[in-house]
Amino acid sequence: MAVKKHIISGIVPGSIAEELEIEPGDELCEMNGAAIDDIFDYQYHMENEYLEILIRKAGAGEEWLLEVEKDEDEDLGLLFDSGLMDDYRSCRNQCVFCFIDQMPPGMRDTLYFKDDDSRLSFLQGNYVTLTNMSDHDIERIIRYHLGPINISFHTTNPELRCRMLHNRFAGEALQKAKQLAAAGVPLNGQIVLCRGLNDGAELDRTIGDLSDYLPALRSVSVVPVGLTDYRDGLYPLEPFTETDAKQVLEQINKWQNRYLKEYGTRLIHASDEWYLLAGEELPAAVSYEGYPQLENGVGMLRLLAEEVMEALAERAGNKPVFRKRTVSIATGLLAAPFLRTLTGKIREQYPDLRVNIIPVRNDFFGNKITVSGLITGQDLIRQIREFADSENPGEAVLIPCNMLRSGENVFLDDVTVGDVIDAVGVPVLPVDADGEALVAALLAEETKPLKRRQQYEQTDCGRDRPAECRKIDAV
Ligand code: SF4
Repeated sequence: MAVKKHIISGIVPGSIAEELEIEPGDELCEMNGAAIDDIFDYQYHMENEYLEILIRKAGAGEEWLLEVEKDEDEDLGLLFDSGLMDDYRSCRNQCVFCFIDQMPPGMRDTLYFKDDDSRLSFLQGNYVTLTNMSDHDIERIIRYHLGPINISFHTTNPELRCRMLHNRFAGEALQKAKQLAAAGVPLNGQIVLCRGLNDGAELDRTIGDLSDYLPALRSVSVVPVGLTDYRDGLYPLEPFTETDAKQVLEQINKWQNRYLKEYGTRLIHASDEWYLLAGEELPAAVSYEGYPQLENGVGMLRLLAEEVMEALAERAGNKPVFRKRTVSIATGLLAAPFLRTLTGKIREQYPDLRVNIIPVRNDFFGNKITVSGLITGQDLIRQIREFADSENPGEAVLIPCNMLRSGENVFLDDVTVGDVIDAVGVPVLPVDADGEALVAALLAEETKPLKRRQQYEQTDCGRDRPAECRKIDAV
């Protein structure tokens, strides 16, 4: 394998690297005598308390062998242009349900990049299909005890997997998951369910087969495919109906009971969307077994409800002074009824609080997309204005921070929160999708910095890539 060059692009101020006078432009050549392929190798060596690093200085090319003694979890403070210390691997599939293929034209180029890089699964929690995971990657994951690795199973029927991923190697790629499971690498799985393809008997087969991956496999989520209006020329897929959702939940429930009895875990979990679509009660908190698939939209609403009740209980004995207030919450169509009920509970304790729910239709991607994480700034502006034509939105419009790109005040369509405020003339406040933050924002208490919790409706592969590439939801 060719040795890769890792040019240092920056140094964290106050870090070990700065103390050692390593500078941007220098090259990291070796760690503990070994060449560094990518971030897998880098992080593995970084866990050592004693490190020898070989640096080639920029310019004259002088080589420095530096000895470092540090804490196990202490970082050197080297920065590289690519977080992977390598090129991102794009996917080799053409999944029939790929969200990127269904995006409207004219968006930022980066939004159309399809990644399926196993290294991102370990580093950022992305779900990967394993179709471009090399034997070298598998060997390193096992040797370095990396994990968890998040796998997009979709089906365990090899032929069907080839068809769904449009990749003739997709079936045999499941062997790699078996290798990882056999080596005890912790795994999580997901199934994007497509009507008429991997549902019904195929879903039963898949869930049944997943016992082969136990005990390494910790949890598996089932999420419904998301369909935009931009599917011309793509595989014909239909959205799930209420009846379908009820059937899926019945199946999952049956398997949960079986797994619980035989293996002591429910293993398989339906995303919140199925319950909302079926009009059924969300399961009790205990059913989520610690919410291992929270960021895949499994149990997020149950957790939110629990947190809201806790936040109310905490305030019950020690009621802060609360003045009369009207406030609005803008959210996707899917979670709007749930939020209406939840805020009703808050109002029982604070009758002077008036909360409007503004369910925002997704005109940008199409009306079949109902999650809040894919609401654009332009849809939000238009529909807050429509709402304000007939009702008073109050002192502020709260939005889930999942509507925004991670760490930024920018929506998917590059509209900023400031643009929305200017256009609607009302303060628009992004709020954490956690119950305490929601109650505090509704009561106009001081809130803490934003913390994202994302709900995943349907996939490309990314989970923690820029939010715009995923279908995410929060209330
Ligand atoms: S869903 Fe993921 S793996 Fe499939 S084509 Fe899209 S980006 Fe690639």
